[in-house]
Amino acid sequence: MPWIRAFFLLLGIPTEECSGVFIAENAHRCGSPTLHRQKKCSKPASFAAAAVAALLLPAARAQTPAPQQPVILLDAAHGGPDTGARLTEKLPEREVTIAFANRLQSLLIVRGFKVVLTHTTPDDAANLTGDGRVELANRSGAMACITLHASGNAAGVHLFTSALPETEPALQGAKPVPWNEAQAPWVTRSLRLASELQAAISRSHTPVTSSRTWLAALDSLACPAVAIELGPLDDATAQDPAYQQRVAEAIAGALLFWRGHPNAVTGTGAVR
Ligand SMILES: [Zn+2]
Repeated sequence: MPWIRAFFLLLGIPTEECSGVFIAENAHRCGSPTLHRQKKCSKPASFAAAAVAALLLPAARAQTPAPQQPVILLDAAHGGPDTGARLTEKLPEREVTIAFANRLQSLLIVRGFKVVLTHTTPDDAANLTGDGRVELANRSGAMACITLHASGNAAGVHLFTSALPETEPALQGAKPVPWNEAQAPWVTRSLRLASELQAAISRSHTPVTSSRTWLAALDSLACPAVAIELGPLDDATAQDPAYQQRVAEAIAGALLFWRGHPNAVTGTGAVR
């Protein structure tokens, strides 16, 4: 295009046009018009392209929004005065769930996720209500909301999804949903997420079950949501770091797979 050439000449940048005549004239020297075309014409063209890129890229970069990091919401159950179950005489559940959440957070960050925690220490949750946790989750735009529990006697890992009747996902957002039924349009996706988690945890040679339950913390969540309870094994307690690490890696792997799943739709931001 003549105007591009004029533009480069104006800037003092050398240009060269690749015409059929030019190729034909030089073809005999290297024996391959194609190779010759690449060799003789690509240089100035690349140079010109690089000059254009150098001139235009900063502006293009400024206009292109950064790709959004996928968000995972982690809610370590209990905290503050709510200590949860006693795993040992001196170890309340709230300590184990937060340790597990922090461990999982590290693995997820390494895998490119943005992690939103409802709280980071057991005492942080002192003023955090159940509804407050849910509001935080529903505002986070998470592609998965994971609530973590721990047990001193229920063996292996237990996954729970809401027992709310499934509503048609297509209706999601079409009409207001009661606060305590916000999970209903998400149940299908939550069941799918639980299925992926169960498969990954099972592959880590850890006994795992999945069931549905009535749980206020799940029923109000407007995102794919699963509660995970870590229970002891014959050779490990729920607070065992190696056991936690193994399960956390399985969960992180499942969420990485979930990231590309068609059901990994982010939350709607529903708040009370
Ligand atoms: Zn619990």
